Order: sequence, then structure tokens, then C-alpha cells
Amino acid sequence: PKNRINVLLLENVHPRAIEQMKHEGYNVEVYPAGLDEDELCEKIKNVSVLGIRSKTQVTARVLESANRLIAVGAFCIGTNQIDLEACLKKGVAVFNAPFSNTRSVVELAIAEIIALMRKLFDRSTFMHQGKWDKSAKGSFEIRGKSLGIIGYGNIGAQLSVLAESLGLIVYYYDVEEKLALGNARKCHSLQELLSVSDIVTLHVDGRPENKNMFGEEQFNIMRDKAIFLNLSRGHVVDIAALKANIESGKIAGAAIDVFPQEPKSNNEEFISELRTLPNTILSPHIGGSTIEAQENIANFVPNKIMDYINTGSTSNSVNFPNLQLPTLENAHRLIHIHENMPGILARINKVLADHDINIVGQYLKTNEVIGYVITDIDKEYDKEVIKALRNIEHTIKFRVLY
Ligand code: NAD
Repeated sequence: PKNRINVLLLENVHPRAIEQMKHEGYNVEVYPAGLDEDELCEKIKNVSVLGIRSKTQVTARVLESANRLIAVGAFCIGTNQIDLEACLKKGVAVFNAPFSNTRSVVELAIAEIIALMRKLFDRSTFMHQGKWDKSAKGSFEIRGKSLGIIGYGNIGAQLSVLAESLGLIVYYYDVEEKLALGNARKCHSLQELLSVSDIVTLHVDGRPENKNMFGEEQFNIMRDKAIFLNLSRGHVVDIAALKANIESGKIAGAAIDVFPQEPKSNNEEFISELRTLPNTILSPHIGGSTIEAQENIANFVPNKIMDYINTGSTSNSVNFPNLQLPTLENAHRLIHIHENMPGILARINKVLADHDINIVGQYLKTNEVIGYVITDIDKEYDKEVIKALRNIEHTIKFRVLY
């Protein structure tokens, strides 16, 4: 029964998520704050579903105490706060909301491109100081300018479409093969993109190789008086090089939303070499911070978790092999999570054969750590089968649906 599924939601998860999980019939407990490791170890003992945002650390130690945990929902984009491998070894599926705030980031980027091309922030700041500086010098329309998008993923591709509708000529570069949307033009190297772009914007992911991928060498290739934006990850840009290039005038304007060191809370001072530079918009990592994005996240994550609990589907799981499963009628569904070793599927099927059970559907997917097998059977099962399946060596978790 669903009311035996205990859900613990921490860190002020959006009310929409609470509502959805209660509506599903789960037993939901809500905590406005985060919990530290010791508190969480204690709290998590009877929890089946844990919902967190970016602050709560789900460590291997926390997982040791998690006897009933089946899923973790990260109501955010990043999952660095979760030990994903330890979750796998415990058979705990992790879900996040990878594209719930894409549009928000794109809109901010567009606003900033226009603001930088018109030196809007500096002008506004001068006005607040009583300085009236009416002039067209160094101010441009964005229409007909070239926009170079580095990283053509969810955000880069969406920006491509909206930027083009405003009259920008879009170039993109990605390390993966990506479909060009609209009239966007693919560049075969970063150098090529940098040499043709009036505006360069970074939308790469946070993989370790991207640390300082953008520095003096890249700024050098850029056009004179180009505009530069980074709303991706703080560590991808060499900040000292950026500063030098703004000061020299090579870069005519910059918008930076993410930083190598960010304050941990709103009470901490923001320290950066970029403070006080001209035509430089600094924002406190708010690219994805909108009410709409919060709502999207609050819809997306509970749906993924409920789908996993009800059907076994793991599509969009961060750590589990992704399987999209049909809903079932007139059958029982057995969910078996095991350490990835040869021969487990054969052993599962031997147990079923020995009990004369007919398989109506079977799905298997593995990753380096686990194997995930779904078996749909058409017979009333007895307790002996369940016991035998549970007792197969290297079984991590076993669940029966329907
Ligand atoms: P994504 O994974 O969909 O896209 C990233 C793309 O970058 C991929 O296509 C990948 O192949 C490409 N890539 C990676 N390294 C590259 C490189 N060195 N050169 C060229 N291409 C490279 O991610 P997304 O959802 O589009 O997000 C993009 C970035 O924005 C991420 O770093 C994410 O963390 C960040 N983000 C920031 C905010 C914010 O508040 N500022 C909000 C959401 C996402």
C-alpha cells in the first residue's frame, strides 16, 4: 500500500511537489531546512523516498542507515551533493530535473546580450550617481550580429532558436555531433567559432576537462571588442585572463553568472577580481532561478519517482540504467537489482522455470555497477518464488509490483 511509502522532503521543496506526493497516497514528512549527516542518518531509517535540494549531502554513511530507501529526488539540476555510486550499490535510483530551468537561463542570456551591447548597466549606474551621458558611442543593435554558442546542449540549442528569432546569426561548437536547429551554423573547432563571433556564450557542462577551458589563448582568438558570457560553470573560465581582457578593451562587455568560488549563503560577501570592471554584469548564479523553473522541477521530479515506484521505469535517472517500461495489465512485475556479474539473469530465469512460471516480458539493462532486470509474469506467484529470487547471490534489491 502506498501509505507505507514514507517520503521525507527537505530544504523547502516546492509545495507543488508535496501536494503531488500526498495525492499519490504517500506518507509525506516535510522539513524546511536541510539536515546534517548525523541528523540525516537518524531520520532516514524508515524513509523510502528522500527529496533534497543542493545543500543536503547524501553520503555513503547516510546510505548505510537507509534501510528502506528506494529513490532520491534532487529538486535541482546538479547531483554533486549525492554519492551516486554508493546509491547504486544500495539499489537506490536518483532522479533530478535536468532541463526544468533551461528556458530561464536562455532568457537571462538574451537579456544580458542586449544589455551589454547597449552598456545598459553602466549607464543606469551613472544615472543613479547623477551622471547624464547620452551618446550612441559603442552601442549596437543585436540584429545581424553573430552569436557563437559553445556547448549546444539543452540550453545552447534553445538559445540558438530564440536568438535567431531576434535576428542574430548563430554559430555553435560542441564536442559531440549535434543537430543544427533553424539556420544555425556548425563550427568544426572552437577556434573557428571564436574567430567569427561578435558575441561568445558558454553553455558547456561541468566535466573536469572543462576546467579553465577558456583562458588567454581563447580570448586572443576572439574578435576585437567582442562580448563574452558565462552562465554555465564557474571553473571553466580563467578569471584572471577574463579580467585582463576586459581591462584592455579586447572584451567590450561580459556577463558572468557562475564563479569558481561562490559564497555559501546570502550572508557571505562575494569576493572576485571582476568586481568594479566596466560593462560587466555580475549575477549571483541566478540563471535558472525563476518561479517557473521551481514549479517545473516540482512537477518533473515527483513524476519520475512515482513512475519508478509504479512501473519500474528509470528514464532520466542519473545513476540507474535507463529503461522505459510499459504499464502492465493482467501480469505481475518483478524488479530485480543486482551487482553486475555474469549469470544473474540465467539464475533468475532458472528460479522461474523451476516454479513453472511463464515470462510474458523481460527487460534488462546494466551499467558498470548494477544490473536492472524487470520480469513480467502471468501467474500467481507464491512466497517460495519470491524468497528464491531474493536469495540469489549478489541481489541488491528485489521488489514486486502489482
Ligand atoms: P547539457 O549537458 O544539455 O549541454 C552541455 C553541452 O556542452 C553538451 O552538448 C556537451 O557535449 C557540450 N560540451 C561539453 N564540453 C564541451 C566543450 N569543452 N566544448 C564544446 N562543447 C562541450 O547541459 P545544459 O542543460 O545545456 O546546461 C549547460 C550548462 O549550464 C551546464 O554546465 C549547467 O550546469 C549550466 N547551468 C547553469 C545554470 C545557472 O543558473 N547559471 C542553470 C542551469 C544550468
